[in-house]
Amino acid sequence: MTAPVLEFAGVTAGYGRTTVLRDVSFAVAPGTVTAMLGANGAGKTTVLRTASGLVRPTSGEVRIAGTVANRRAPNQRAKDGFCLIPEGRGVFRSLSVRDNLRLQVPPWRRGEAVDEAVEAFPVLGERITQIAGTMSGGQQQMLALARAYLSKPSIVALDEVSMGLAPKIVDEIFASLRTLASAGIALLIVEQYVQRALDLADQVVLMDHGSTSYVGSASDLDEAELMRTYLGVS
Ligand code: ATP
Repeated sequence: MTAPVLEFAGVTAGYGRTTVLRDVSFAVAPGTVTAMLGANGAGKTTVLRTASGLVRPTSGEVRIAGTVANRRAPNQRAKDGFCLIPEGRGVFRSLSVRDNLRLQVPPWRRGEAVDEAVEAFPVLGERITQIAGTMSGGQQQMLALARAYLSKPSIVALDEVSMGLAPKIVDEIFASLRTLASAGIALLIVEQYVQRALDLADQVVLMDHGSTSYVGSASDLDEAELMRTYLGVS
C-alpha cells in the first residue's frame, strides 16, 4: 500500500507554553480530498501550520510521504511534496501573473509553464500581463492554486481559500480545487462553506477544542455530530 501523503500520529503542539493540539491523528491518502472542519479556535489553522513546519510538535509524529518530518523545515517539506496556501493567499503581488507562474518552476520548464497553467485555469489567460496585486481576491486565489498546480506537489493544504469572496467566485475556486484533485493532487482544506467542502471531500476531520472528534468518510458523517461540534451543543 502507498504511504499516506500526510499523516499525524498522536500530535500535540502549540505556541510557547500554550498547548493547542492534543493527540491529533489522521492520514491523507494520495489523491484524496480531506475537509477539516470545526468551530473558530478549534485548531484547524494550527494543524496546517504544524503540517507545514511552522509549528513543531511537542510529541507525536508528522509524516510526509511516509517519512517523519518533525525536524524538517518548511522549505524542505515543500520539496517533499507538501504545499501550503495560507489564508491571505501567497502570490508575489508586485509581479505579473506570467512571472508568478514562471517563477514557480525550474528554468527549463518556464516556456511551457504558462501554457500549462492557463489550460488548467483559463481565467488567468485573460490576465497574463496583469500585476497580481491589482487583481481581485478571487483571481489572486486562482493564481495561488495555479502556482500550486505547476509545482506538482503530492498534497496542497488550503486555509479558508474562499474567505471574503463572492459566491460566484467561490464556485470558480471550488472548480479549480476539482482541477487539482483530478490531477491526482491530494487536498487538505479548511473551509467555512461546510456544504461545499463536504461535496468535494472523501474524508472529514472534525476538530473540537484542539482534538479530533471525528475522522472518517464524508458520507458517514453524522449531521448531529457536525452541529454539536460547530455550535458547542452537548
Ligand atoms: P479560526 O477558524 O478562527 O481560524 P482555527 O480552528 O483555525 O480557528 P487556530 O487558529 O488554530 O484555530 O487557533 C487555535 C487556538 O490557538 C486558539 O485558541 C488561538 O487563540 C490559539 N493561537 C493561534 N495562534 C496563536 C499564536 N500565535 N500564539 C498563541 N496562541 C495562538
